[in-house]
Amino acid sequence: MMKKTIGRVALSLALITGSVSLLFAWGTFGHQHINHAAVFALPTEMRTFFYNHIDFITEESTVPDLRKYTLNDKAENPRHYINIEGMETMPIDSLPKTMKDAMAKYDEKTLQKMGILPWYMQEIMEKLTKAFKEKRKTEILFLAADLGHYIGDANMPLHTALNHDGQLTDQKGIHSFFESQLPEYFGNGYNYHVTEAIYLENVTTASWDVIKHSNGLADSLLLIEKNLKATFSKEKIYKTDVDGKVLKNKFGQWTHSYEYATAYHKALNGMVEHQLRHAVQDVANFWFTAWVNAGKPDLDQLDPNELTASNRKRYKKEMKLYKQGKLFGFRIENEFN
Ligand SMILES: [Zn+2]
Repeated sequence: MMKKTIGRVALSLALITGSVSLLFAWGTFGHQHINHAAVFALPTEMRTFFYNHIDFITEESTVPDLRKYTLNDKAENPRHYINIEGMETMPIDSLPKTMKDAMAKYDEKTLQKMGILPWYMQEIMEKLTKAFKEKRKTEILFLAADLGHYIGDANMPLHTALNHDGQLTDQKGIHSFFESQLPEYFGNGYNYHVTEAIYLENVTTASWDVIKHSNGLADSLLLIEKNLKATFSKEKIYKTDVDGKVLKNKFGQWTHSYEYATAYHKALNGMVEHQLRHAVQDVANFWFTAWVNAGKPDLDQLDPNELTASNRKRYKKEMKLYKQGKLFGFRIENEFN
């Protein structure tokens, strides 16, 4: 019942604004896997503390979307995307680099409509750095988890594109197909092991690099599906009930058939896995950079030794799995069947 309401609110919101679709980005599956894996990509000095709170970091990864849909927080919406082609200034490099510059250039309404994702990432990054400096444990965890969400969104190509749900090319529904259904169907086979966190010399540049890379994939992601669709007979594209009616998930989104999902996933040639791994790497890099820029505070002293000791066994087991690219202990509430 609860979920149904959320779906309806989200749907009516989307209808009212007419532009922004159901921007869940990666769904619960993706966001939780991104934040969770990023903990293991941290250097040892950070990893113990983050591991002690890995359940929080994992669950909290979807809270920004809850603020948007469950709490109906209007200010939340534009933080999850940037509509690059919608900004009148092209190319990408000519866009304002920081929130300050963006606010000087665009009015509130434009920003609300076009989105503020890369600028907002930088803002949270500043706040996280400050929290590390002041050793405020709850703020560190809260901001790190939130930042993980937005970096995850930035790695979803359609969160940077004007044609964010294929609405301009007769591909409506591709947004959740790519970010939720595909990870739910195939994500358990992905490799989540990435390089240990790398220091980012320039956070502003780094946040734009994420967007640029992601935006560069949007067109091919759409084109691949368009070409594939042309080779499938219509009744094979979607899951249908006995009467041949297309099945919708709890958010009212059309469910693609397993056969079609498999074909699309294959045609994408690893793009979903690549972007999820990219997100894991980015999240670890940003967390690490905030910590270094804060003067590398000792995080282990923020937790009682007993907590660390009691986590040791599970930590060892999870670390071993992670090195093989696997994550441990997930039971995700799937959005698609
Ligand atoms: Zn989001």
